[in-house]
Order: sequence, then structure tokens, then C-alpha cells
Amino acid sequence: MNHDPTCIFCKIVAGKVPSRKVYEDDEVLVFHDVAPWAPVHLLVVPKAHIATMYDTDEAHTAMLGRMMALAPRLAREQGVVNGFRIIVNTGPDGGQEVQHVHMHVIGGPRPWSKG
Ligand code: AMP
Ligand code: ZN
Repeated sequence: MNHDPTCIFCKIVAGKVPSRKVYEDDEVLVFHDVAPWAPVHLLVVPKAHIATMYDTDEAHTAMLGRMMALAPRLAREQGVVNGFRIIVNTGPDGGQEVQHVHMHVIGGPRPWSKG
């Protein structure tokens, strides 16, 4: 599996940096964002290092579908009952700060600090 030893999310996947994990399978890891915007703020990441959505293609369809299909289930498990947002910031104009694909799942009662 592709891995970048300098990447913060690869370090989390490898257990070298701690995280508050909520879900894991062979392809995907989910953990709480360290600086949440809302009562529930999860990050869904592929275990393989993929820098941005620009680096995905048809070969990633199943993995991306798995990531998205997890969102409602995990949001509900975290107590989100009234809706949530899915955000995938991509590239400089998309405001992407961490260069490892990640899906934000954001929800819970408002007001939120951002968004
Ligand atoms: P983005 O701007 O879409 O690249 O978002 C990156 C997100 O990663 C931000 O919401 C950060 O708070 C979050 N983040 C960065 N480092 C960590 C970490 N070590 N553990 C959990 N979340 C992190
Ligand atoms: Zn990575």
C-alpha cells in the first residue's frame, strides 16, 4: 500500500501519531478532526497515500464509494440526527491543507464555528 512517511495522515494510519479513531477497515480509517468546526467532525481517509482527488481515477471508485457510504452510518453513531455536511477540499483553490485525501463529515447541533 502506498505510504508517505512525511504525511501526517499516513503517520496516523501507521499509528505513529495518535488519533481518536472511530472506524477502521482494510482500506479506510476514520478519526475525529483535532480542530472540530462542529460538535461532530470526522475525517474519513483512505489508508493508502493519495495526495488529492486529482490523483484518483476509475480504479478508486469502490474505495471512494465506501468512504461516502460510511458517512451517514458513522454520523448517526456519533449522535448526528438532523443532518450533516460532507466536504472534500481539493488543491490550493479548494483550501486543501493536508495533502492526503480526506472527507470531512461535519454535523451536530448548530451553531458551528465554521461553515
Ligand atoms: P483540509 O483543510 O481539508 O486539508 O483539512 C485538514 C484537516 O485536518 C483540518 O480540519 C485539521 O484540523 C485536520 N488535522 C490536521 N492534523 C490533524 C491530526 N493530527 N489529527 C486530526 N486532524 C488533523
Ligand atoms: Zn498520506
